[in-house]
Amino acid sequence: MSNWDVEKIRKDFPVLSQSVNGKPLVYLDNGASSQVPQSVIDRTSKYLSEEHSNIHRGVHYLSQHATNAYEAAREKVKRFINAKEAKECIFVRGCTEGVNLVAYSYGRKFIGEGDEILVSQMEHHSNIIPWQVVAEEVGARVVMIPMNERGELIIDEYENLLNERTKMVAISHVSNSLGTVNPVKQIIATAHKFGVPVLVDAAQSVPHFPVDVQDLDADFFVFSGHKMFAPTGSGVMYGKREWLERMPPYQTGGGMIRNVSFEGTTFAPIPDKFEAGTPAIAAGIGLGAAIDYINALDFNAAAAYEHELLDYATERLADIPGVKIVGTAANKASVLSFTIEGIHPHDIGTILDQQGIAIRAGHHCAQPVMQFFDVPATARASFAFYNTREEVDKLADAIQKVIEVFA
Ligand SMILES: *Cc1c(COP(=O)(O)O)cnc(C)c1O
Repeated sequence: MSNWDVEKIRKDFPVLSQSVNGKPLVYLDNGASSQVPQSVIDRTSKYLSEEHSNIHRGVHYLSQHATNAYEAAREKVKRFINAKEAKECIFVRGCTEGVNLVAYSYGRKFIGEGDEILVSQMEHHSNIIPWQVVAEEVGARVVMIPMNERGELIIDEYENLLNERTKMVAISHVSNSLGTVNPVKQIIATAHKFGVPVLVDAAQSVPHFPVDVQDLDADFFVFSGHKMFAPTGSGVMYGKREWLERMPPYQTGGGMIRNVSFEGTTFAPIPDKFEAGTPAIAAGIGLGAAIDYINALDFNAAAAYEHELLDYATERLADIPGVKIVGTAANKASVLSFTIEGIHPHDIGTILDQQGIAIRAGHHCAQPVMQFFDVPATARASFAFYNTREEVDKLADAIQKVIEVFA
């Protein structure tokens, strides 16, 4: 394996050292939510115990202190994704809220009757439904970019679907149900030839490899903190300034105005325009600490290690008769979805849980993917850089046992 001291890394994550059902916890549900390192817990706790106050409005010591910490987190986000400006990084509750923000704000203004929104077949529901709802409202259509049997987007078909009616392309960087890494840079470049902006759902990419929104030339780039080692309630919607300035607010209320009267209201500049009300301050500061944690790692080495782990797990599971891997794209990250002939994924999940192994079983909020592969659900192991080869062995052995139980 690559030069990665996983045992040292594991010590940073207190959750991992517990037992579940009498067995050491094997946490393979990182695609749903990743664990939180002690440094992030400490930073969040320090905020709550020493610095808590509402931000942006106060002239007093604590409020200024909290504001500084929150805005410092925004700067960290900017550097983490290489945005041009911190003001382009809007704090949201998570990826879902980020997509909803773009769908309603951009959609109601720039998408109209007869227009088309291209959404890939492998999207998470949170990158499908907001577009459907907006499309219905404005009289537009959501058009699906299809994938092949390996779970790779069919790029030729995508290019054929782009036309002068296309007003948005919404696509995941990494599929949460299949693990496919999509060629988003190429997808964006093609869309831009038609003048079409692209929203990248980066929920499953930011925890697994370095990203650069300027290099990708993404117009919108959204992700959740809780999948990248930060607390729930934190997340980011990055948008290019030229779009954000032209877009109306998504939610309105306190903190996002320039001037209010009953004759009319004017809105604050970005990012405040999109951050109505009191935000999740502790979670936002925690997200900044999670970025500090990642920055202190060799993130490229982490990605390489994780990739070896995924390859190893794929090999181990492919060797078990009756196991079928769902999603066999050439370029994958973190996710291993599978089915076992004759056994429902929920039963697999329940039996593995008795062994202390946490995986996910279900449709993974990607029912169109399940329909395409003609399965009701899959079992999904999803990895982080703190998982080990031994854990993969335990997974494979436990799956073997499941098959014996049902034989
Ligand atoms: C988890 C996930 C989402 C939704 O994220 P929330 O944190 O639940 O808002 C969207 N897209 C993908 C690819 C995901 O994995």
